[in-house]
Amino acid sequence: MSTLDAPARARLPVSDGRRPATGDGRPRHRAAPARRSRGRAARGVITGIERFAVHDGPGLRTVVFFKGCPLRCVWCHSPETQAARPQVMLRAERCLGCGACLDACASGAASMRPAGGPAVDRARCTVCGRCADGCPTEARSVAGERVEAVALLARLERDAVFHGASGGGVTFSGGEPLRQPAFLAALLDGCRQRGLDTAVETSGYAPWAAVEVASRADLVLFDLKLHDDARHREHTGVSNRRVLANFRRLASIHPRVRVRLPFIPGITDAPANVAAIGREAKTAGVAGVDLLPYHAAGSAKYLRLGQPYALSHLKPPTPESLAEARRLLEAIGLDVSIGGGG
Ligand code: SF4
Ligand code: SF4
Repeated sequence: MSTLDAPARARLPVSDGRRPATGDGRPRHRAAPARRSRGRAARGVITGIERFAVHDGPGLRTVVFFKGCPLRCVWCHSPETQAARPQVMLRAERCLGCGACLDACASGAASMRPAGGPAVDRARCTVCGRCADGCPTEARSVAGERVEAVALLARLERDAVFHGASGGGVTFSGGEPLRQPAFLAALLDGCRQRGLDTAVETSGYAPWAAVEVASRADLVLFDLKLHDDARHREHTGVSNRRVLANFRRLASIHPRVRVRLPFIPGITDAPANVAAIGREAKTAGVAGVDLLPYHAAGSAKYLRLGQPYALSHLKPPTPESLAEARRLLEAIGLDVSIGGGG
């Protein structure tokens, strides 16, 4: 899952395109057998696909953003991925005032603000998408698309040429990919059949059966945000006990897990937290940590969804604080990157 973008590449060894090199003496991960029939049947909800991404695993990647997440991290830059169902988004600055959306809406949910710009009654909105289809400027849009795994795999396969040349692949992010385990399993199996390298980004907050699905990926990018459970509950809405238990168990069976630590000033950047997460990673046998510096690029999306953004006052971390966190983690014996391009 991607709660933050990352500005720079990490330094993981590039895989051979099919299976990762372990390099640490642990047994090479054995994936569950692929089942092509599941790929034909499985469907899921995504918010989009980003091509040529450089912050979500090694090389150039195609990132698929799943919709739905059980966490509510206050710094989340992708609030449109949090709700499981599609949602209408509004961009007032693009509205021409033409009224086409009002004519298109059969439920009476679409309206205009007295001061200009689109509005929606979300209690009445059925998210049919007709207003977005009729809007000439995308002032109205729908976040969330239901797709079949087999159709998505065909789109992903088209990018294989730039994956192969860069040591990249496909990353399943979100939102939380483990919220749609059957869909994710079909995609991972389908990618394997097509020779596409895979990564899964996850919060780790899921039943173990879903985490096992993620273990089929060549690389797992595992978020550890706050080691203190009370602070984790305060800033993400859930306990970290399940997250840590899943992390330890996954790291014991998968040769290539990398920790991602969203670096949020005043929330996750305390040296005690960074060191605790570093020790957690080291004890689990994980080789590296990506520090993901906070940015406010997602703040406008809250407005489009009609939701408040709690961190509008927050500035990105200073280079000095990032350098200090890097020193702390390297002293523990971890490979550290500023960003998530590992
Ligand atoms: S998505 Fe459908 S129901 Fe909702 S405001 Fe648009 S047209 Fe109306
Ligand atoms: S269709 Fe689009 S541009 Fe026209 S009034 Fe509706 S939101 Fe504004």
